[in-house]
Amino acid sequence: MTEWHAEPAHLCLYPFLSAASKSVEESGVTLENLINSAVFERARLRGKSRITEAIKEGTIRKPVIISDAQAEMELLSYPFARILVSCIGDERLVRRYALSEAKAAHEKLLDESSRGGSSASSSASADIIYRMSEEFGIRMDFLAGEREQVQVPFVDYLRFTTNLRDKRWKLVNRGLGKGKLKLRKAEFVRIVQEAIYERIKKDLPLDVPEDICKAISRYTEDIKNELEETRKKLGAAGYGFESDSGVVVKDPSCFPPCISYVLSNLKEGVNVPHGARFAVTAFLLNIGLSEEEIIGIYRNSPDFDEERTRYQVEHIAGDKSGIQYTAPSCDTMRTYGNCVETDEICEKVSHPLNYYKFKLKLKQKQEQKQNKSA
Ligand code: SF4
Repeated sequence: MTEWHAEPAHLCLYPFLSAASKSVEESGVTLENLINSAVFERARLRGKSRITEAIKEGTIRKPVIISDAQAEMELLSYPFARILVSCIGDERLVRRYALSEAKAAHEKLLDESSRGGSSASSSASADIIYRMSEEFGIRMDFLAGEREQVQVPFVDYLRFTTNLRDKRWKLVNRGLGKGKLKLRKAEFVRIVQEAIYERIKKDLPLDVPEDICKAISRYTEDIKNELEETRKKLGAAGYGFESDSGVVVKDPSCFPPCISYVLSNLKEGVNVPHGARFAVTAFLLNIGLSEEEIIGIYRNSPDFDEERTRYQVEHIAGDKSGIQYTAPSCDTMRTYGNCVETDEICEKVSHPLNYYKFKLKLKQKQEQKQNKSA
């Protein structure tokens, strides 16, 4: 397979590729230029918007490239975005940014690889799949006479599917023959998304010298403000905190740390293990959230599948069996590594639901006291 020889207009849409880094290196643009020169202000602004789009939308819009100059700015905006996200140093932002880049590339790749029609476009669509698999060292091939099915050695498959929680990715649920698995092309592209995510996240945050972070603080400050605003909005919008009568009965500020942690990961689009999903779903059902509200919370997950999520939520709610599950106790949460970021209230309780009731009461008492003294 030959080296990736993409046009700048194409390469800038996949800026994490080795050919893209090489192209940046060969462009002769120094770090000093990228950070200070007025010529690269467009690249810096685009770098900033990569991150704000990740914060607000959970993906990064791919622009229509109409000139080489625009392609160069787009390409340079990627290393600048990496510097920005590193200077901010927020671990959750790093994950969200990496995931947004990977999702955007996945969409683009899905679009490019699904173009059929003429034999030229069909061969271009196969070409991009081959080149991506070569880039990430995945030994893939199309099935004989097929353009929609590929096969992959199971060792390569396993490298990139450990974070995919859905049952359909489990090795036992895939046909395995002669050490290879068959996948639909779209499934293979989903695996490539995982490879992209791993690559983008791998070196982040970069070790950026303080003077550089200072020099670009006007961009990082804007991003931090955006991040704070968005987190505030997400926290306030919440999960149907009001009952039908308008009384606040579900107050996320009183959720135990273990539950808040999972919820914040879900909001950030981070993959959450099955046990933690079960715990959070049962907890939210137990405190009275509707199934629809809970399904809405999962909508941001990287692998969101409405039908499966609905099935799982309904199962935990006991719609069919009539037995509703109770959220796991603190002991069980500890056993499965889901007890995190404990605080002083945790020392007084043995169940996340008791934590919630305890904190709600405490909050109500504090509010009553404040009202009296007002
Ligand atoms: S001690 Fe209990 S309530 Fe607190 S974080 Fe751990 S599991 Fe959650």
